[in-house]
Amino acid sequence: MNVAGGTFDVERIRARFPLLARQVHGKPLIYFDNANTAQKPAAVIEAVDRFYRNSNANVARAVHTLGDEATTAYEASRDALARFVNASSRDEIVLTSGTTQAINLVAYSHALPRLQPGDSILLTQMEHHANIVPWQLVCERSGATIKVAPINETGELIVERFIELLTPEVKLAAVAHVSNVLGTINPVATLARECRKRGIPLLVDGSQAAPHLDIDLRALGCDFYTLTGHKLFGPTGTGMLWARRELLEAMPPFFGGGEMIREVRFEGTTFADPPHRFEAGTPNIAGFAGLKVALDFLDELGQEPVFAHERDLLAHLADALARLPGIRIFGQAASKVPVVSFLLDGAHAHDVATLLDQEGIAVRSGHHCAHPLMQFYGVPATLRASLAFYNTHEEIDAFVAAIKRVRKLLG
Ligand code: PLP
Repeated sequence: MNVAGGTFDVERIRARFPLLARQVHGKPLIYFDNANTAQKPAAVIEAVDRFYRNSNANVARAVHTLGDEATTAYEASRDALARFVNASSRDEIVLTSGTTQAINLVAYSHALPRLQPGDSILLTQMEHHANIVPWQLVCERSGATIKVAPINETGELIVERFIELLTPEVKLAAVAHVSNVLGTINPVATLARECRKRGIPLLVDGSQAAPHLDIDLRALGCDFYTLTGHKLFGPTGTGMLWARRELLEAMPPFFGGGEMIREVRFEGTTFADPPHRFEAGTPNIAGFAGLKVALDFLDELGQEPVFAHERDLLAHLADALARLPGIRIFGQAASKVPVVSFLLDGAHAHDVATLLDQEGIAVRSGHHCAHPLMQFYGVPATLRASLAFYNTHEEIDAFVAAIKRVRKLLG
């Protein structure tokens, strides 16, 4: 337990993330770019190192000891992910390189064979490009079109409009659980219920939700769910697609190759059952060994103290930013995670981010892979501060003080 005297012992937790101790431009690092990628606890780094030092071998091929250890480490990550999202079965978990690969898999394997000219895919205005472009590509091939559910100025999905748009030609809806730009938490259980009533499968992009919310797929009621290991304090190149078993069973392979077959003859090939049918080739075994340890780490911290600390950080950050004159904040949803996008009047986002970097502060500036959302707000870019449970009030105070200095510098 890392809860000392009823409070979240953030310093003890920070000490377990080696990178947080470094300096940038001679200043202590303040890492507020967690929605981009999160830092890794030493235990995760050591697990990757240990895999290469002790167990390195390929999975599901060799009967020797190392092969067995590698397969065990890889499959243990599937078990840990199944527990993390409360899946009914480990066989519903396809290990992927991340959310991008997971969504492409559903687009090409589930959607494309079903799409006809005149059909539609329903998205929302706040999607990441990873949840737009794969759908555009399969629409181009099939003659289907994209429909977009609108949001309001506050950065919330207009749920009634989303429901109205669930018309018979919609063959799938795909929605971010949490917006990577606004931090908005979408009411995916409600959306899933409405989709289900109409027999429309719902894919939920959980890339930004998994680090901040309790993901209970049995309660959520969606049909596909994706997540990203590197935003979840695990290694890059790891992630997951969860899908209902019957959907996975009906999906043809997307990538072909080793590991995903039952028998190969030149006349034709029979394929392995899910999830292995979708895991052709050598996966990121060391990465998954690390992701398992990241999930264990989160388990050890416990969700309640982590979420309470994050709520507290968000309140502190939102309050401090709201007091600054000449700042425009994007996304003020009632239900959100600690991700805040903003602009300073008259200053370009990249200039502000560059000056903040000189102070050791890492925030992201740009379109955040969400061009349509930038178009909605009529801006080319924003600054984004995205926090994790290892961030502190003191860092927020230093960040706000730095913004004041930057504004003076930029006139
Ligand atoms: N979806 C959302 C909402 C994201 O924020 C991101 C990453 O920034 C992605 C998808 C892409 O995820 P991955 O890096 O796992 O491909």
